[in-house]
Amino acid sequence: AAETANRAKSTFLSNMSHDIRTPMNAIIGFTTLAVSNINNREKVKDYLGKILSSSNHLLSLINDIIRLSELDSGEDNLLCFEQVDLDEVAGTCVKNLQMNAQKRNVTLYYEGVSCMLRADRGMISELVENLCQNAIRYNNEGGEVHVRVYYEKGQPMLSVSDNGIGIPKDQQERIFERFYRVDKSRSKQTGGTGLGLAIVKHIVELHDAVLHLESEPGKGTTIT
Ligand code: ATP
Ligand code: MG
Repeated sequence: AAETANRAKSTFLSNMSHDIRTPMNAIIGFTTLAVSNINNREKVKDYLGKILSSSNHLLSLINDIIRLSELDSGEDNLLCFEQVDLDEVAGTCVKNLQMNAQKRNVTLYYEGVSCMLRADRGMISELVENLCQNAIRYNNEGGEVHVRVYYEKGQPMLSVSDNGIGIPKDQQERIFERFYRVDKSRSKQTGGTGLGLAIVKHIVELHDAVLHLESEPGKGTTIT
């Protein structure tokens, strides 16, 4: 078990180093270009834009890594369980993501009933946000995302459903691994680091919940 844990750790570190190096190299490269073209306003503006977007990517990568290591260690003292209305948390998340969806020409719908549970509010909100971001990001022009909060057999349920690109069967298990991305270019182009679902999985485990994925390439994905 220790051997497996060590191997997982070293894979994680090497993936992480690679993913940090990429935006870092871009920042250094474009800064060098900007310096040598300092008198060309148009060029400098273009390079600065690229530096900004690489910096943002780097920051979100670092935030995700910090989040995961927080979740990995001393889980208990970080948890803050309270009575939370899933409907309220999910509804607010969806509202905050509307602009995001619009930019990608995706329509985001929400439907929910009041659903009280013992949970860490911040984590639940992070979970909903991660799932919605994916449903928006891995979607098509004019696509739809439906977020629902409901009861099934007395159990509170949350589902995020999209009619986007879907996930091939043989990769459906793997997407919950750290840094795993099905379509590297699409994920990267939209600032993805492959850590979102690893965080989601962790949060689900901390809440003794069950994660279920249903997906078909070309049809869409539902995560419950
Ligand atoms: P991050 O969430 O860290 O910004 P990411 O979105 O690439 O980056 P995850 O959220 O962990 O990382 O998702 C892993 C991969 O699973 C994605 O790169 C994508 O290939 C695939 N994926 C996730 N959600 C969906 C979805 N709703 N539809 C299709 N593919 C998905
Ligand atoms: Mg994601």
